[in-house]
Amino acid sequence: MRLAVAFDVEELLDELDLRLMWEPIQDASGERTLGALKAESDLVILNENYVTELEGNPGLRRFTLGHEIGHWILHAADIRARTLPLDASGRTWCRSGSREPPERQAEMFAGSLLIPEDQLHVRLRAQRQGGWSEVYEIADAFAVTPTAMLVRLEELGLYHRGDTGTPVVGRRGNPAQETLFG
Ligand SMILES: [Zn+2]
Repeated sequence: MRLAVAFDVEELLDELDLRLMWEPIQDASGERTLGALKAESDLVILNENYVTELEGNPGLRRFTLGHEIGHWILHAADIRARTLPLDASGRTWCRSGSREPPERQAEMFAGSLLIPEDQLHVRLRAQRQGGWSEVYEIADAFAVTPTAMLVRLEELGLYHRGDTGTPVVGRRGNPAQETLFG
C-alpha cells in the first residue's frame, strides 16, 4: 500500500498482519492508556474505556495505532526478550505523556509515520504567521490532532510554543532562521 498523506492506518495494520481489538484497560493513577500492544499475539488493542473519544477523534485514533505500530517495529525484539516491561497479560501498555524512552520512541515513530517531513514541507504555507489556526489547518490535512502536529513541527524546528503556549514560527530562540527556508 502507498502511505499517502492521511492514509488508512488500519489498512497498514492488515499489511503488517496485526489484528485490532477493543478491550478495557485499567488506567494507572493519573495516566491515560489509550492503546496497548500484545506482541506475542500480533494484536493491537484500543482501550474500550475510551471508545467515545477514540471513535470521535480520528486523529487521536490514528496516532494511537501509529504508536503501537512503532512498538511493533522498534521494540519487537525487546518485547520477546522481555527487556521491555509487559503487564500481567503480556501487553506493552502505553501511558499518555510518559517520558520513558520506549514511549518517546513510539511517539516519534507515529509522528514520522503520519507526518512525513517531505510531505509536510510540500503542504506548509510559504508565508507563515504562526497561531493555532495554521496548525489546525495542516493537522486537518494530515488527519492528526493539532497537538500531535505541533509536537512534530517542534521536533523539526519549524514552530515552537511561545510564552502563552501558542504556536510561533521557527525554532525557539531563533525565529528569524525560518525565513531562510520559508
Ligand atoms: Zn507505548
